[in-house]
Amino acid sequence: MMKQTGASEYKAVLMARREEILGSSRHREDIWIVQSHDLIDTIQLASDREFAIRTLERESKSLMQVNSALKRIDHGEFGICLECEEPISDKRLTAVPWAAYCLHCQELHDTHETADDHELQLVG
Ligand SMILES: [Zn+2]
Repeated sequence: MMKQTGASEYKAVLMARREEILGSSRHREDIWIVQSHDLIDTIQLASDREFAIRTLERESKSLMQVNSALKRIDHGEFGICLECEEPISDKRLTAVPWAAYCLHCQELHDTHETADDHELQLVG
Protein backbone atom coordinates (compact mmCIF):
# COMPACT_ATOMS: atom_id res chain seq x y z
CA MET A 1 0.00 0.00 0.00
CA MET A 2 1.27 3.43 -0.92
CA LYS A 3 1.72 5.86 1.92
CA GLN A 4 0.65 9.48 1.58
CA THR A 5 3.65 11.79 1.59
CA GLY A 6 3.57 14.05 4.60
CA ALA A 7 0.41 12.52 6.07
CA SER A 8 2.09 12.15 9.47
CA GLU A 9 3.05 15.83 9.45
CA TYR A 10 -0.53 16.80 8.64
CA LYS A 11 -1.64 14.48 11.40
CA ALA A 12 0.57 16.30 13.92
CA VAL A 13 -0.82 19.66 12.79
CA LEU A 14 -4.39 18.36 13.04
CA MET A 15 -3.81 16.90 16.52
CA ALA A 16 -2.40 20.25 17.68
CA ARG A 17 -5.39 22.05 16.18
CA ARG A 18 -7.77 19.68 17.99
CA GLU A 19 -6.04 20.36 21.32
CA GLU A 20 -6.33 24.09 20.63
CA ILE A 21 -10.09 23.88 19.97
CA LEU A 22 -10.72 21.66 22.99
CA GLY A 23 -8.61 23.96 25.18
CA SER A 24 -10.44 27.12 24.13
CA SER A 25 -13.90 25.58 24.63
CA ARG A 26 -13.13 24.50 28.17
CA HIS A 27 -12.96 27.91 29.86
CA ARG A 28 -16.24 29.05 28.35
CA GLU A 29 -18.31 26.74 30.52
CA ASP A 30 -18.85 29.42 33.19
CA ILE A 31 -21.02 31.43 30.77
CA TRP A 32 -23.69 28.76 31.04
CA ILE A 33 -24.00 28.82 34.83
CA VAL A 34 -23.84 32.58 35.48
CA GLN A 35 -27.25 33.99 36.44
CA SER A 36 -28.23 37.58 37.21
CA HIS A 37 -31.39 39.41 38.32
CA ASP A 38 -30.16 42.70 36.92
CA LEU A 39 -31.86 43.46 33.60
CA ILE A 40 -28.78 45.04 31.97
CA ASP A 41 -26.67 42.13 33.11
CA THR A 42 -29.29 39.75 31.79
CA ILE A 43 -29.24 41.44 28.38
CA GLN A 44 -25.44 41.46 28.40
CA LEU A 45 -25.40 37.80 29.43
CA ALA A 46 -27.90 36.97 26.72
CA SER A 47 -25.71 38.54 24.07
CA ASP A 48 -22.61 36.95 25.58
CA ARG A 49 -24.42 33.66 25.48
CA GLU A 50 -25.50 34.24 21.89
CA PHE A 51 -21.88 34.98 21.01
CA ALA A 52 -20.71 31.94 22.96
CA ILE A 53 -23.22 29.75 21.14
CA ARG A 54 -22.02 31.05 17.78
CA THR A 55 -18.41 30.48 18.79
CA LEU A 56 -19.16 27.01 20.10
CA GLU A 57 -21.00 26.18 16.89
CA ARG A 58 -18.02 27.33 14.88
CA GLU A 59 -15.60 25.44 17.13
CA SER A 60 -17.59 22.23 17.09
CA LYS A 61 -17.73 22.52 13.30
CA SER A 62 -13.94 22.98 13.17
CA LEU A 63 -13.53 20.06 15.55
CA MET A 64 -15.68 17.91 13.31
CA GLN A 65 -13.58 18.90 10.29
CA VAL A 66 -10.34 18.14 12.14
CA ASN A 67 -11.63 14.81 13.42
CA SER A 68 -12.81 13.68 10.02
CA ALA A 69 -9.48 14.73 8.49
CA LEU A 70 -7.69 12.59 11.10
CA LYS A 71 -10.02 9.71 10.22
CA ARG A 72 -9.19 10.16 6.53
CA ILE A 73 -5.47 9.97 7.35
CA ASP A 74 -6.05 6.68 9.20
CA HIS A 75 -8.02 5.33 6.24
CA GLY A 76 -5.43 6.52 3.73
CA GLU A 77 -7.99 8.81 2.08
CA PHE A 78 -6.43 12.06 3.20
CA GLY A 79 -6.10 14.80 0.59
CA ILE A 80 -8.91 13.53 -1.63
CA CYS A 81 -11.87 15.84 -2.25
CA LEU A 82 -15.06 14.38 -0.77
CA GLU A 83 -17.11 15.96 -3.52
CA CYS A 84 -15.31 15.28 -6.80
CA GLU A 85 -12.67 12.78 -5.52
CA GLU A 86 -9.86 14.78 -7.12
CA PRO A 87 -6.63 15.20 -5.11
CA ILE A 88 -6.48 18.39 -3.04
CA SER A 89 -3.30 20.41 -3.75
CA ASP A 90 -0.44 20.28 -1.23
CA LYS A 91 -0.48 24.07 -1.12
CA ARG A 92 -4.09 24.02 0.03
CA LEU A 93 -3.50 21.20 2.54
CA THR A 94 -0.58 23.08 4.03
CA ALA A 95 -2.80 26.13 4.58
CA VAL A 96 -5.92 24.15 5.55
CA PRO A 97 -4.91 20.62 6.64
CA TRP A 98 -8.53 19.76 7.54
CA ALA A 99 -9.76 20.70 4.05
CA ALA A 100 -12.28 18.09 2.94
CA TYR A 101 -12.83 19.62 -0.48
CA CYS A 102 -10.69 20.89 -3.31
CA LEU A 103 -10.71 24.65 -3.83
CA HIS A 104 -13.42 24.49 -6.49
CA CYS A 105 -15.84 22.43 -4.38
CA GLN A 106 -15.03 24.46 -1.26
CA GLU A 107 -16.02 27.66 -3.07
CA LEU A 108 -19.43 26.14 -3.77
CA HIS A 109 -19.78 25.34 -0.06
CA ASP A 110 -18.52 28.78 0.99
CA THR A 111 -21.39 30.41 -0.87
CA HIS A 112 -23.68 28.99 1.81
CA GLU A 113 -21.30 29.96 4.62
CA THR A 114 -21.28 33.57 3.45
CA ALA A 115 -25.08 33.63 3.41
CA ASP A 116 -25.04 32.48 7.05
CA ASP A 117 -22.63 35.23 8.00
CA HIS A 118 -24.86 37.89 6.44
CA GLU A 119 -27.76 36.58 8.45
CA LEU A 120 -25.60 36.74 11.57
CA GLN A 121 -24.76 40.37 10.90
CA LEU A 122 -28.45 41.23 10.66
CA VAL A 123 -29.12 39.52 13.98
CA GLY A 124 -26.18 41.24 15.73
ZN1 LIG B 1 -13.63 18.77 -5.43
